[in-house]
Amino acid sequence: MSDDRPTQRIDTLAVHSGARRPGPEGSIIFPIYQSTVYAYEEGTDYHDIKYIRLSSTPSQQYLHGKLAALEGAEAALATSSGMAAATGCLMTLLKSGDHLIAGDTLYGGTHTFLTEHAPHNGIACTFVDAGRPETWGAALRKETRVFLVETITNPMMRVPRLREVVRFAKEHGLTTIIDNTFATPVNFRPLAAGFDLAFHSATKYMNGHSDLVAGCVVGSAALVEKVRRTANHYGGVLDPHAGFLLARGLKTLALRVRAQNGNALALARALAAHPRVAAVNYPGLETHPDHRHAREMLSGFGGMLSLRLKGGLPAVERFIPALRIPYNAPSLGGVESLVVRPSLTSHAGLRKEEREAIGITDDLVRVSCGIEAAEDLIDDFRQALDKA
Ligand code: PLP
Repeated sequence: MSDDRPTQRIDTLAVHSGARRPGPEGSIIFPIYQSTVYAYEEGTDYHDIKYIRLSSTPSQQYLHGKLAALEGAEAALATSSGMAAATGCLMTLLKSGDHLIAGDTLYGGTHTFLTEHAPHNGIACTFVDAGRPETWGAALRKETRVFLVETITNPMMRVPRLREVVRFAKEHGLTTIIDNTFATPVNFRPLAAGFDLAFHSATKYMNGHSDLVAGCVVGSAALVEKVRRTANHYGGVLDPHAGFLLARGLKTLALRVRAQNGNALALARALAAHPRVAAVNYPGLETHPDHRHAREMLSGFGGMLSLRLKGGLPAVERFIPALRIPYNAPSLGGVESLVVRPSLTSHAGLRKEEREAIGITDDLVRVSCGIEAAEDLIDDFRQALDKA
């Protein structure tokens, strides 16, 4: 890394960080080193042998440099999925007998890992409302080691009390982990805010083109190295081909996310003013319960919002098929706008009462804004609302 890098802005880091100058054979685009194996250098520690599963090969190291620079981290590790990143962090920091505190509106996969798989490994979890610091003390146990939250939750777009999470964890000697998928480093830099480890489903905004599955973990060199050693044995590491696509996607991260922030804010405002819309959940709206706090903590409110229609489910069933630009599809963060009903997809595993208790009614529609023109998106949503 060159000395001036920390002063560079995220747009510049996205394009150039991680690169070697000159590149191999003079290449500007870092090549895909597909070789599984490399000549053995006498005396190399097992974890440092160049081998794809050990995440130590040149294409992987290039990607790690870029990911670390974007999050302002000492080190990064790319993983085969967001879930491999989440479980890599958790299984590194927690052992049998340990306990963690976690936000109660985590991504479904992470939540299910904590309720179904972590207990098999002797790890216990207490879920808390990450927006209510006064409730966290009651969850503490002498064996609590970790506090896990997400920057912006799905699909109500709540923003936990991030500063208080860091403060509470420091007071009680806990390691903080944050899933920064929805915010991206363009909108929030967890490590600068005091979090110990951040991870992403890089499948989403980090790649941004809905054409690969990947994850990443960023943090101090010491912690990321521990996670890498765990991943070396669990095996969920990223293949160089997917890593090449991810590095390419990352080059436009700042451009894409700013466009998505802009589209989501414009669309949220237009929807909030529409007579057929019952509610819009977007932290950029003054009406959102976390708006003031989000304004302090985030540099952008993200590209995700959710809404309910006055006509309830029957209206939603007419509205979604009438949309011409967004696809009706799960996942998020790509350049194409998507809409989905979380009750049928991400939260289908919850009982109706459980879902409704956290605001996920059958008529809730989640929108992942792409990079289309805001005016076109707004026009399209309006014409579909007319048919709802
Ligand atoms: N975290 C969040 C916030 C997600 O939305 C997802 C996937 O939807 C994941 C983690 C898991 O990521 P992946 O599907 O890449 O394993």
